[in-house]
Amino acid sequence: MEKIVINKEACIGCGLCVNNLPEYLVFDEMGHAESVGKELKPEDKNLALESVDNCPVQAVLIEEE
Ligand code: SF4
Repeated sequence: MEKIVINKEACIGCGLCVNNLPEYLVFDEMGHAESVGKELKPEDKNLALESVDNCPVQAVLIEEE
């Protein structure tokens, strides 16, 4: 299954991915994006790929588990 993963060391907390994918991502206490660990639904894949492309620091990743 696929999950959205955040490179929290790279994240600058712009909020773009959290706003686009609120079902999958939240802010942690430091204001960085954090994955809730939920399986990526096929119908949300394109939205997730958009966030991968649009993250200013390439910190959004889709990983196969
Ligand atoms: S889009 Fe990138 S920089 Fe912005 S909150 Fe998400 S992971 Fe962080």
